[in-house]
Amino acid sequence: MENIFSEIMVRNSEGQFQYQILIDGCWKCLASGKTFEVKNPATGEVIALVPDCDAADVKNAIQAAKKSLNLDGFSPIERLEVMEKARELVLKNQDFLAETITKESGKPISLARSEVKATAERLRLTMEETRVLYGEYLPGEWVEDTRNKFAIVLRKPLGVVAAISPFNYPLFIAASKIIPAVLAGNSVIAKPASNTPISLILFIRILEKAGMPTGAVNIITGGGSALGDIIIQSQDIQAISFTGSTKIGEYIANQAGIKKLHLELGGKASAIILEDADLNNAVVQICRGTFRNSGQRCDAVSRVLVQDNVKELFVEKVVEEVKKYVVGDPMDEKTQMGTVINEKAVQKMDALIEDALKKGATLLAGGKHKGLFYEATVLDNVTLEMEVAREEIFGPIMPIMSVRNHEEAVSLSNSSEYGLDSCVFTQNINLAIKISKELQDGSVTINAAPGHGVGHFPFGGNKKSGLGREGLKYSIDELTKLHTIIFTQSE
Ligand code: NAP
Repeated sequence: MENIFSEIMVRNSEGQFQYQILIDGCWKCLASGKTFEVKNPATGEVIALVPDCDAADVKNAIQAAKKSLNLDGFSPIERLEVMEKARELVLKNQDFLAETITKESGKPISLARSEVKATAERLRLTMEETRVLYGEYLPGEWVEDTRNKFAIVLRKPLGVVAAISPFNYPLFIAASKIIPAVLAGNSVIAKPASNTPISLILFIRILEKAGMPTGAVNIITGGGSALGDIIIQSQDIQAISFTGSTKIGEYIANQAGIKKLHLELGGKASAIILEDADLNNAVVQICRGTFRNSGQRCDAVSRVLVQDNVKELFVEKVVEEVKKYVVGDPMDEKTQMGTVINEKAVQKMDALIEDALKKGATLLAGGKHKGLFYEATVLDNVTLEMEVAREEIFGPIMPIMSVRNHEEAVSLSNSSEYGLDSCVFTQNINLAIKISKELQDGSVTINAAPGHGVGHFPFGGNKKSGLGREGLKYSIDELTKLHTIIFTQSE
């Protein structure tokens, strides 16, 4: 099989792999030659060097994307063909892609394989997505002042889209921005997280090999704090599709000026367990919801609100279930939990646990780490005074809180500044409907932990969890603008 990546990963004089990046159709190490190291969180080894872009590189990428907007010859049908070809290439290279994700993120290989499959599936479903681009016909005769008029409403591309992505799903999240952006006729400048840039470099190579025209997709790598302002404040960028922390999302919103913003930010999903819930199901779901990808998911269950009369039994079952979540070598197919991303994440978990214990929480499991391998941790008797009850955790900690009834659970859940996800466990369908309407999150899942897969259902946050919705037809909605043409019939 042809190795489509060999030309973009060059060995330097010390024998280390150095990746190149694509700007204006050209793979290059940068003029400055500056690079930074990408390390494997599980072993501490340097996996490869990646270009450390400077302001000039970012500006070149933006100009390349702008120039490509004016090129004829990348018709909608050709965009679909590129996506189909890209899907084939993702599948052909799935092992290398999955291994790369695991090496740079520390997540278990089984999860990395799912991420690659989800990316291929996202590419397959582009045909479905383009339906949103068909537009609308609106008759005017329903309203007096438009009775002799009708309109067609088109969806037009926005222009240059900056796609800024986080470390936790380094392939899928970036691909979920780039695919709809390109399908809608935009061009893209993509910026991956500095901990995990390689998966996206590989995906950009795949898009190029699949036939993406020059400049339609560009990638820059380097520190977000150094390069962010150049992207955010550029007058040549019409939209920013950002997934990451609320802190950076708020910064972008403050700095961006008049641009379309699609912001997928932090979360604090609560799991509400009522007295009539199927506790066995709830326990399995909530453990998976908390510990999958070591809790490094925006939709991770981040506080468990249990009705007090079933709490003891729930806690007993959770402690049993947590024994299955053993941290291990991420490259082992059987491993369920790998590492957290870096030392800063370890320090954050330690501080959250220390604060909770100081304020009266009980440690039921975990609480320790070896290197970046952090144990599945369960804290009981958590109260709102503790940071772990209020802050986004983004790590493998399950805080358990007691509630008297569903009213208290809803009120506690809604007291969060986040509003991304929540889930409710009950067998009372009427109560499930009532609670799910009252919760202030973008999605509420009944009798399962939140999980958003390939994006068949719309996904996104309220309050400090963001702006806009991601999903198969919803992302494309965010990345287009309406254009109304009104026809007048003579009397
Ligand atoms: P992050 O620190 O906010 O970084 C996200 C991206 O923003 C990275 O590419 C980062 O680059 C870049 N960045 C940093 N400073 C910037 C600036 N001043 N201007 C522009 N870009 C800047 O987030 P993370 O730690 O990678 O990811 C975890 C966060 O993402 C969590 O809060 C999680 O909830 C959120 N998330 C949300 C969703 C969702 O759908 N709602 C999904 C996944 C993750 P560098 O890496 O170079 O700093």
